[in-house]
Amino acid sequence: MVDFIDLKRQYDLYAAEYEKAALRAMRSGWYIMGNELKAFEKQFAEYMGVDYCIGVNSGLDALILAVRALDIGPGDEVIVPANTYIASVLSVTENGATPIFVEPDEFYCLDADKIEKAITERTKAILPVHLYGQPVNMEKICEIADRHGLYVIEDCAQCHGAKYNGQMTGTFGTIGCFSFYPTKPLGALGDSGALITNDKALAEKLFKLRNYGSGVKYVNEMTGKNSRMDELQAALLQVGLSHLDEGNNARIQIAERYLNEINNPNVTLPVVREGATHVYHVFALRCENRDALQAHMMKNDIKTLIHYPIPPHMQQCYTELGHKKGDFSISETYAVQELSLPIYAGMPDEEVTQVIAAVNSFQGEDI
Ligand SMILES: *Cc1c(COP(=O)(O)O)cnc(C)c1O
Repeated sequence: MVDFIDLKRQYDLYAAEYEKAALRAMRSGWYIMGNELKAFEKQFAEYMGVDYCIGVNSGLDALILAVRALDIGPGDEVIVPANTYIASVLSVTENGATPIFVEPDEFYCLDADKIEKAITERTKAILPVHLYGQPVNMEKICEIADRHGLYVIEDCAQCHGAKYNGQMTGTFGTIGCFSFYPTKPLGALGDSGALITNDKALAEKLFKLRNYGSGVKYVNEMTGKNSRMDELQAALLQVGLSHLDEGNNARIQIAERYLNEINNPNVTLPVVREGATHVYHVFALRCENRDALQAHMMKNDIKTLIHYPIPPHMQQCYTELGHKKGDFSISETYAVQELSLPIYAGMPDEEVTQVIAAVNSFQGEDI
């Protein structure tokens, strides 16, 4: 069986380093907000080329705190892609603000050309998602945001290390938000996340918001959360960060084989935006007969996934937003056609070959 992702194989690439880092953290006698977190925050900020990194306990929390730190709340609107993972949208609704969905482009990212039509006097921010590991058209989005006086919150949960016109994703907007969920390009061995920014005042606010709204112990300036990255994850993430580029390159190489060797006319392969480096957190193809292709892959002992089967506007949890089927037809089409192939650092070449052969042998319908 070819697994969609095998985290043990990824772990085994650097097992000795992970185990050394874990022991260091465990034997330190200090488990929350200590030297490991400080070290990781410094290293991640350096890697990204920004002034501040704030470690938190998940990607969702990073997004929620970003929206909150910008004082976006009830009555405010935030522009989000209609085809994203639910967390991007939850960050808006968790703060009582309203998500305004905008359709994706052919690269599966927020279509910059459709943003301006969605802007109203209530709009406070644009929240682009570098979906699947491919950068959004940030040049255009930042230009629109500047012209309308809007914040830009980048959802970087899938794009660690991806660049657009030579610049790191996460550094274009007001704040960049990262998830270190284990399967992400930079993954912890548990939950955690981070925010990056060059804005000093914003960083100081975020350092407090993640820790009960407190900068000095037992002095609370604002109501915050407990959203701290623990020392163990911070230690493990330092190892992960030192190998992030290697992991990205490993997936890029697999993606290149898929792009060169998959030649089935029933399948639409991903296209890379000019000026972008795609780090292929997800290798997303499209097929009109997607469910049959997925069944065909399974018959060939290959597991695949769908990112994502139900767009946020059609989720039960968002019925109150009042959207219906047909409101965002591009996103809805992607949801019925998208299929993700296995791709991860440590995936054996033979398995890549097997995946290619299975896709190419698909006849357009399940036999
Ligand atoms: C994973 C993910 C998140 C949330 O990250 P968690 O660490 O799981 O909370 C947010 N946005 C996108 C696009 C994601 O893929």
